[in-house]
Amino acid sequence: MSKTILITGASRGIGRATALLAAERGWSVGVNYVGNQAAAGEVVALVKSRGANAVSLQGDVAQERDVLAVFDGCQQALGQLDGVVVNAGIVASPATLMDMSAERLRRMFEVNSVGAYLCAREAARRMAVSRGGKGGSIVLVSSVAARLGSPFEYVDYAGSKAAVDTLAIGLSKELGQEGVRVNSIRPGVTVTDIHASGGQPDRAHRVGAGTPMGRPGEANEIAEAIIWLLSDAASYTSGAVLDVAGGR
Ligand code: NAP
Repeated sequence: MSKTILITGASRGIGRATALLAAERGWSVGVNYVGNQAAAGEVVALVKSRGANAVSLQGDVAQERDVLAVFDGCQQALGQLDGVVVNAGIVASPATLMDMSAERLRRMFEVNSVGAYLCAREAARRMAVSRGGKGGSIVLVSSVAARLGSPFEYVDYAGSKAAVDTLAIGLSKELGQEGVRVNSIRPGVTVTDIHASGGQPDRAHRVGAGTPMGRPGEANEIAEAIIWLLSDAASYTSGAVLDVAGGR
């Protein structure tokens, strides 16, 4: 059945791959981005070329007013939501905690944790049956960093993702009677631009080589799991934290 979904951070990487896979199912897709309008426009065009509807929605997930505008804009353009992928996230340069500024810590948690909570809140408000929604699925994109801790690289990022896993556990219980499933997915190292944004463009292949499967994941391999969690095939899966990490 056709669905309407909103994906935060859908202009590139895992969010982009999820948007394109959703389009192949005929689902309408809200494509959120923060700064890269051209990349978001390209995703919208690719979704439409697959016969599905799409809209691009600029907004910083760390800003409440932006989050509200993104959700409102998505629903105005595409109709009531069936699913939300809380995917937007950032990393920073490798450092030990001893060398991390307060400003860096705040931004990391504002985007990855507060941003995820705000987006999940809006998803819940709009999909909960007691609020007039039709139920649905929320997929939170965490990271294996949440259980590895990411020492000497980014313990801030790891902690910000642990909060996301905990949100999935608690929110799934709050929404159990509301027709809304909530799950967290923990990708392992995956080939996207995020590593270059943290000053390590070769990181995915370098780290991937040392994992049990001997390679990094591809964005579409993560997207497959997200799409499954969004779909009715996962109708009894809620409160799960799913590693998609090549055995790492
Ligand atoms: P990416 O390639 O760097 O793409 C990031 C996406 O998020 C872009 O669409 C970007 O928009 C958007 N974004 C960044 N900050 C934003 C903000 N404040 N508000 C709204 N959108 C924002 O990243 P990725 O690797 O696909 O990562 C996606 C998610 O997977 C993240 O939560 C990340 O932590 C998680 N993850 C990634 C890996 C990995 O190895 N790649 C592993 C585990 C978990 P613009 O294009 O406009 O900048």
